[in-house]
Amino acid sequence: MPDARTAPLENSASSDALPDRSTVDAQLALRSRLQAVITVALHHGVELDARDFRLSSDQAVPSPASLALWVQSSGLWAKAARVRWRQLLRLEESAPVILLLTNGTAALLAGWDREKGVVLVANPLSPDAPPLEVAELRLKKFWHGDVLLIRRERRATLDEAQFSFTWLMKLVLHERRNLREILAASLTLSVLQILPPFLIMAAIDRVMTHHTLSTLSLITLMLVIVTGYEALLSFARREIVEVMSTRLDARINVHVFRRLLALPIEFFERTPTGETTHKVSQIFKIRDFLTGKLVNTVLDVFTLVILLPFLFWMSATLAWLVLAASTCVGLTVLCFLPAIRHVYAQLIVAEVKKGSVLVETVHGMRTVKSLAIEDVRKQEWDERVAESGHARLAAGRIANWAQTITLPLERFVDRGVLLCGAYILLMSPAGSTGITAGSLIAFMMLGARVASPLIGFAKLTQDIEEVRTSISQVSEVLNNPTETAAMRGGLRPKFQGQIVFEEVSFRYPGSQALALNGVNFSIPAGTMLGLVGRSGSGKSTIARLLQGINRDYSGRLKIDGSDLREINLTHLRRSFGVVMQDNFLFRGTVRENIIAGRSGLTLDDVVRAARMAGAEEFIERLPRGYETWIEEGSANLSGGQRQRLAIARALIVDPRLLILDEATSALDPESEALVNANLLRIAKGRTMVIVSHRLSSLVDCDQILVLDKGRAVDIGPHGDLLERCSIYRQLWQQQNKHAERGRQTQLKSIAAGE
Ligand code: ATP
Ligand code: MG
Repeated sequence: MPDARTAPLENSASSDALPDRSTVDAQLALRSRLQAVITVALHHGVELDARDFRLSSDQAVPSPASLALWVQSSGLWAKAARVRWRQLLRLEESAPVILLLTNGTAALLAGWDREKGVVLVANPLSPDAPPLEVAELRLKKFWHGDVLLIRRERRATLDEAQFSFTWLMKLVLHERRNLREILAASLTLSVLQILPPFLIMAAIDRVMTHHTLSTLSLITLMLVIVTGYEALLSFARREIVEVMSTRLDARINVHVFRRLLALPIEFFERTPTGETTHKVSQIFKIRDFLTGKLVNTVLDVFTLVILLPFLFWMSATLAWLVLAASTCVGLTVLCFLPAIRHVYAQLIVAEVKKGSVLVETVHGMRTVKSLAIEDVRKQEWDERVAESGHARLAAGRIANWAQTITLPLERFVDRGVLLCGAYILLMSPAGSTGITAGSLIAFMMLGARVASPLIGFAKLTQDIEEVRTSISQVSEVLNNPTETAAMRGGLRPKFQGQIVFEEVSFRYPGSQALALNGVNFSIPAGTMLGLVGRSGSGKSTIARLLQGINRDYSGRLKIDGSDLREINLTHLRRSFGVVMQDNFLFRGTVRENIIAGRSGLTLDDVVRAARMAGAEEFIERLPRGYETWIEEGSANLSGGQRQRLAIARALIVDPRLLILDEATSALDPESEALVNANLLRIAKGRTMVIVSHRLSSLVDCDQILVLDKGRAVDIGPHGDLLERCSIYRQLWQQQNKHAERGRQTQLKSIAAGE
């Protein structure tokens, strides 16, 4: 009997070797499918990491769609499809193709032999075995047509493109089908809108003058039908617009968040949170414009094109009057534009500042309260409110002037034209102008519809100005260089943990002094490095460079011989455990916080990590243990408890490299002793970089690097440094003054006792 764990095509000599669905377990299926995807991605030059794949809890084996999503996240093009044998033979260009077999595993379609009518199929889990020739009938036994196609992306996707008006328009045009339907509905609506005025014209002229009741009934019936039809059509148009804008909204939301996540941390450190959120939220103004005003104005213009001939047909003089007045309105609005643009820009700046103050205050409320500086913040807020109030008022005033000037003209279109028409009617001999009482009313009704697109068109230019400002605001955030390329490409070596700094210098953007100045050192894999130095000497900067947070350093920084900048960023950060002085815990349970969304971790792993971090005993004392809920900002935990959770969170994935930046400084001596006692155990099998002000916790380190003003002064074990490094000796003596004094007194008393 064949081994139940054998992949479908492994023992391929006979078709009996193909196990049915029940004989392949989920683990094997998972491995086989992931390996197939990894192999094909590698064929296209992209290294995928199986750890990045998320198997959702309701799936036993990876679905074609989830595999496609995983591949797409690496920048490749991927599509899950169902094809027939004949189509399969035509997929030559897309080779290698992944066949998703019915038993949950996958096979690689490596080639075709058309003469023999067979395909060449390989098992992803045994890459060295020669591919098998499989005929159609045999393939169909374990394959129902599911394939996963992967190829290199031919053009920059919408996701990668710079954010701009063109980008947004492309997004709108993506909804071509919807747009076509809206257009059709709107054109029909425009035509329908012309009908009622004509019917009313007929009613007035015929019914009034000839007193025919039957004509009136007919006209009434037609009006009812037209109205009903108009109601239905406008319902359909609104429905389509709603659907379209909801879809656009979702697309924009997804895109914006993805872009935000791809921005480097440097950007967020540089820009106030309030400013970022305010600027990004401007995108919804743009969306409203695109799906609201823009669509409506464009549609109105269609109405205009249909209506104008009718107006000229009824009375050329009146039509010219309407056109002239509407154009005047449009021109007036255009004249006000520069002023509006200027004030609007001021308003936006003021609003951004106001938003930043709000977010900053809410964020730092604890500090505001403890320093009792509510008044200072309030004053700042009041100033910002006044500033934006002034700008808003100025903008409102200008708009008010524009509206005041245009109002008489707009009124002329609907009322004045009626008077002019009546004047023409009175002055000319009966019947010579073709104007009747009915046509005057009809003209008045239609005239208003001509004016509104023209005015709308002029106002649109104003809206476009606003939108342009919004777009520049959004792009100030979203068009910053992202880390996407570094997160997708690059090497994914298995780390041993050797770290080498060669002449590394680094200056923070916008700062004068070098934060690191020609730092040289190297540590072998699996050892502990302590970093000491006065505040501001560059300890955290070294930790940041190691994590790839800042990448524009000069010199060489190597991990296991590979240049750090050539390593895939996600892979690098996943291989690192990092605990900082200030750690953010997400809303959720203790267990969820330690797992932090990483797949394949169980409660046992959580308990093991918590034990190593010295957190087990306090977690067990919590009311609901590992299921205790942690609030936003983790208000229900003490600083030390938070710290230990963060250590557990870093340890749970068993990282090859662990960075602790002042990780134990918030701990009470007892818990610090607990973590320190565990440090040697934690350090086993990994490289550790420990930054600490308390030198006593570094004495066990294999090497200690002493930094001073960004320079590496010395490196060596504790004993050696005490002897030869004056800065280290000084720091050590400062911290051990009491112990030293105690020892001196003891010595003295011993001496006195003698
Ligand atoms: P501490 O012990 O106080 O944490 P440190 O040794 O970790 O100090 P670093 O944070 O590495 O010091 O800072 C080194 C220098 O770089 C300091 O002069 C600091 O002012 C500067 N610096 C640190 N972070 C930034 C930043 N995000 N932007 C600009 N300058 C920075
Ligand atoms: Mg620091």
